[in-house]
Amino acid sequence: MSSELELDLWIKRDDLTGFAFGGNKGRKLEFLMADVIAQWAEVVVTCGSAQSNFIRQLGAACSRFGIHCAAAVMGLPYEERRPNVTKELARGGNVTLDEILGIELRVLPDGTWEELYAQADTLAAEFREKGKKVYSIPIGGSSPLGAYAFYVAAQEIKAQSEAFDTIIFASSSGSTHTGLAHAFHGTATRVRGIACDPEPEIADDFAKLSGQLEHLVGHGFTLTPKDFDLDFRFVGDGYGIPSEAGNRAIVKLARTEGVFLDPIYSGKAFSGLLKLAEEGAIGNRVLFWHTGGTPALFV
Ligand SMILES: *Cc1c(COP(=O)(O)O)cnc(C)c1O
Repeated sequence: MSSELELDLWIKRDDLTGFAFGGNKGRKLEFLMADVIAQWAEVVVTCGSAQSNFIRQLGAACSRFGIHCAAAVMGLPYEERRPNVTKELARGGNVTLDEILGIELRVLPDGTWEELYAQADTLAAEFREKGKKVYSIPIGGSSPLGAYAFYVAAQEIKAQSEAFDTIIFASSSGSTHTGLAHAFHGTATRVRGIACDPEPEIADDFAKLSGQLEHLVGHGFTLTPKDFDLDFRFVGDGYGIPSEAGNRAIVKLARTEGVFLDPIYSGKAFSGLLKLAEEGAIGNRVLFWHTGGTPALFV
């Protein structure tokens, strides 16, 4: 791939962390589960799309500690209804793994993100009414501790390698992007998220998360929405809907390096990398942060 793109390409293999089929959510769970246990929670509640990688890895982490895991899910939390896509996403891949893990899934009809978050709150309230100690985690594990996990991940890559000109990855609920952007702020390394969610307002949420992360790391600055380099050109038809360019990128990397990407996140991100490389916009030493997601190939 490096010689084809005429640059020095590296891949950070978070798809190979070894926990529950891998992926970036394992890093967040290292810190989130410690907090769940410290608070003596009996039930962990979250929400996401049917093919959420976070729900799968969270369920596996809860299994390890004998904690019940429940999640409100929608096939496709997206304004524009796509019943056929929703139906496809409702089985196989992560859903199969969620079922094996015994995660309690409350499957809702498609609606907006806000409706999904509200249903997670309702689910948590129901457990509290039954006297359970509940720990709620926002979508994708993007709490301050989730962002902290990627701030720590940035220290890991700094220790492993000379500086990169650009770091590219799939960005959605924001803790991956926020942790990395915070850690590389003011350095020569440009942190570029390829958005997998079409709403530009997400940069406002990322900035808010940066403020919360700042309480944990104390660097004396908070990032603003403008500090987040988010490229929206590769979302395709919307969150969770595979794109043609993304699917081509999956095939290309598999046939060049034998490395698998996924259709919802990392494939779209790699399609962005290919385009940015063509535009000469990413320098020479480039890191693709592979965030995982490969179970969705089996949908
Ligand atoms: C969740 C996820 C992302 C996005 O990470 P965020 O921290 O939610 O922005 C990217 N790739 C994969 C495979 C994911 O599961």
